[in-house]
This record gives sequence, C-alpha cells and structure tokens, in this order.
Amino acid sequence: MVRTRFAPSPTGYLHIGGVRTALFNWLYARKHGGQFILRIDDTDQSRNVEAALQPILDGFKWLGIDWDEGPEVNGPCGPYFQSQRSDHYQTAVDTLLSKGLAYRDYARTDEIQAEREAAQAEKRSFLYSRNWMAENDDQAAAFEAEGRTAVIRLKMHREGTCVIDDEIRGRVEFEWAKEQDMVIQKADGSALYHLASVVDDHAFGITHVIRAEEHLSNTPRQIFIAQGLDYDLPTYAHLPYVAEPGSKTKLSKRKIPKYLKNPDFKQLYDHGQHIATACGRELDADTFNPVIVDFYRDIGFLPHAVVNYLLLLGWSLDDKTEQFSKEEMIEHFTLERVVKSPASFDPKKLVAFQQREMDSLPLKQKTALAVSYLQQSGLVDDPPSCDTAPRLNDIIEATEQRMTVAGDILDYTDFFVTDDALTYDQDAYTKHITENEDDNGILADFRHIVESANPFEKETIEAAMRAYIEEKGIKFRAIVHPIRIALTGKTIGFSLFDTIALIGQQSCLARLDRILQ
Ligand code: GLU
Repeated sequence: MVRTRFAPSPTGYLHIGGVRTALFNWLYARKHGGQFILRIDDTDQSRNVEAALQPILDGFKWLGIDWDEGPEVNGPCGPYFQSQRSDHYQTAVDTLLSKGLAYRDYARTDEIQAEREAAQAEKRSFLYSRNWMAENDDQAAAFEAEGRTAVIRLKMHREGTCVIDDEIRGRVEFEWAKEQDMVIQKADGSALYHLASVVDDHAFGITHVIRAEEHLSNTPRQIFIAQGLDYDLPTYAHLPYVAEPGSKTKLSKRKIPKYLKNPDFKQLYDHGQHIATACGRELDADTFNPVIVDFYRDIGFLPHAVVNYLLLLGWSLDDKTEQFSKEEMIEHFTLERVVKSPASFDPKKLVAFQQREMDSLPLKQKTALAVSYLQQSGLVDDPPSCDTAPRLNDIIEATEQRMTVAGDILDYTDFFVTDDALTYDQDAYTKHITENEDDNGILADFRHIVESANPFEKETIEAAMRAYIEEKGIKFRAIVHPIRIALTGKTIGFSLFDTIALIGQQSCLARLDRILQ
C-alpha cells in the first residue's frame, strides 16, 4: 500500500513550489491506489496555527488536491498536528538515549560557537567535540551543578558512509563523519523537525517520502534516527526545486520587486493588480504575489490550468504532450520522468495554459465565474436583477476569447453600468466626437437607425448601418469610433454589432441622447 504525505508548516500561505511537491505526492498515491496524507508541522507554536493553516487547506481544496487523512478529515493515525504528538517524540528520544544513539548536551551556545570559529580559523570543517556530553546521570548532575541545561543531540556515526537510493537522484552517498550531532529536542522538552518528521512518517506508515531537494541533505540524519528506532526506511524521492523565471535560483516568496524585472512576471503581476483594483480589493502584500496560490484564485484562474502547468514543472510524459486531464495525470505520472535539474517558473506559459482552459470552458461555467467578479465589483446584484440576468450568457459569449481569467470581464463593464455612470476615454472622446464636425450628423443618423431597428437585433442593426454607409458613400471605419465611444466610452471592445445589441435599444438611445445634447 502506497502512502505519501505533504507536511506543510502553517505559514499562512500556499507557495506554488509547495503545491508542486504536494501534487506529485498526490498523483503518486492516486496512481497506486494508495493514500495521500496531510501532516501539519506546527512544532513552532509562536503563530496562530488555525489562521495560518486555513489558506493552505483552502488552496488545496480549490486546486482539487484532496487528502485522505489529516486536518478536517482525520484518520486512523491521528492526530495529524505535530504539536499534539509530543508523547510519541518523547518515547523516541528515550529510546535513542537508552541505546546510546543520542546524548544530553550541556554546552552553552557560546562554547559551540567558539568551536565553530576555531574550526573556521584552522580551515577545517566543524565537528562538535562532545566536551559537554553527558551519557550518564553523574555526568549530567555535574553539569547541572554548574547551572547548565541540556538539549538532546544525536550521537552520529563518525565513520562509514550513508547510502541513499533516491528515486529521482539515484545513488547518493554521504560520509557519516561529516554529519553534525543535530539537536533533536530542545531544553524545554520540545522535539525538533528531524525527529518529529521521522517518528511521524513511521507512525503514519509513509512508504514514499517525496519532497523538495533541499531536504536531501537532511536525509542521512533522518536515516540515522529511523535505523536507531528500528524503523523500515521509506523510499526517498527528492524533487528539483522550482526556479525563478528564466533563472536557476530557487523561487522563494518575498522577492516581488526583484521578480518584477522579468517582463513576463511583471505582466502577470500587473494583470492581477488591475483586476484586484477593479474589484475594489485592498492588496494584501502577504498574499498578492504570483508565487502564492491565492493570487491565481483571486483573479479568476481556473484551478486545472494551474495544476496542469505545475505538473509539467519538472515532469514530462514525452517532451511534447502538454494537456492532461486529472485522470490522465494520474494514469501517466511516474517518478522516473521527473527531471533532475530545476524547472524555471514561466508565467507566460502558465497564462497560455489558462487561456486554453478558459477558451474551452462551457459558456454556463464561464458566465458563472465572470458574474462573480461583476458582483464583487458591485456592477451586478447578487442574485442578478431580472434586467441583467437574461443578458449575461450573451454578453459572456460575445467576449469570445478576450477573457484570459474570469476577472477580465471587468474590462467590459459598459454593459452593466447605468447610462449616467458611463465614463469616457477623454482623448478618444475629444478626437472622435468633440473635434469631429461630422460626427454629430453620424450620431444623429445612428440614433434614427437604433430607434427604427425592428426587431432590435444585431442582424437588423448591421443591415441598416451597411445601407447607411452605402447611401452616404462613406467608409465603415468613419462611423465605428464615434458610435463605439458614444455607447461604451472606449475605443476597444467586442464586435460593434454585438455591443449595440447587448447594450439594448433603451440604453443605446439614452447614451446617444446624452452625447447629442
Ligand atoms: N515541514 C517540512 C517542510 O515544509 C517538511 C519537510 C519534509 O517533507 O520532510 O519543509
């Protein structure tokens, strides 16, 4: 039975690199009919765990990455929060101490620091002298009499080699003598990451530890602990990290100003900012960042586009297939096809995936998504008024492929504002209406066309307008701009006939009358 896990610390946000790791674990479990477990590494109690965990759980739910055991769903191995598992860790510490594989260490920080500096000065690698190690109660009592307190350290091997057969990296060797005596329990009795992680992986029956590459160097210590506790070792698979756009540097969180130097990243960021502002949202600097999942959800990405893109960030089926349904991902995913080198995050490609996903979304779903943005920005009531509701599908259909993300609907709000609330692009207004003598004539004639179109549909309007330009001997483009600006306030938008029909006869007349006056 395959059991994989993702073990986030409750940080308050879900990083896309973390999602990629979770996704690979999820796919591996689903492919093998196993279980995917969410464990919460909350040994650092300084934050409000519940508040900091919720965005992570919400992010996974939005992406459709479900977990079989963990927060909210619980399961037979719980609790799934490390802060609630200290008795398990204490038992493990006691075992390691009794086997002589860990010791109480009474060194003060400054004493360790002095050893470190001496090693540096002599240009040799640092290895703790164990001068303040207590292996029996008498030694401990002597140190305590000096007012010292103890942490628990691993007593690492000082010779031999640790061999890891990593599913992705292959055979990796570490010399034991270079491994530090890591602290596994602090003086206050709280367990630290290495110990807690190994004890939990064992208790949860984790068969495959699939995680970020930065943990490869932690693996010898964890193997040492697991062997000391007579655990079977899981299979390890260390994923290459996700790199910054166009670079080999790890994509971290707080580097927005630096990332914005990348034009593709900046375009994505600006796009998001434009939508968030149109919705009247205050930008939260903590989450308004394209390396965090919330960013995508909040501006109207489709979760499958994000998941599909992240799948290909370090994995490929055959170097050409790009589009996968969830079922296909599960069917084809293998660790063998994970690349060893870092995959660079490409905002442009992610947007292209999103565009494809959006274009193939059924109209009804597209409308529902877009309407939620119109509601957020206050342009459409919730539920939509009986005036607006029947027009919604037609308006969204007329957007054709102009919406990349659902929030883009806010660029085409002229259908939803009252005639009084319409704002005009001032330069275009001046150029095409104020300074164009002929336009008043055109707009007055167009008013007549609008008034007499029967039925008021795009076909009848188009026929009447074509007849009009022919009779006047003018080009179509001579009338397009003044009419579009009079009706929408802008120079860009949908096809003009669609626009006129969608705005409706009453509104068209009211908007024209305002301008003519
Ligand atoms: N909480 C650890 C992290 O977020 C988990 C590491 C692991 O997968 O072992 O890095």
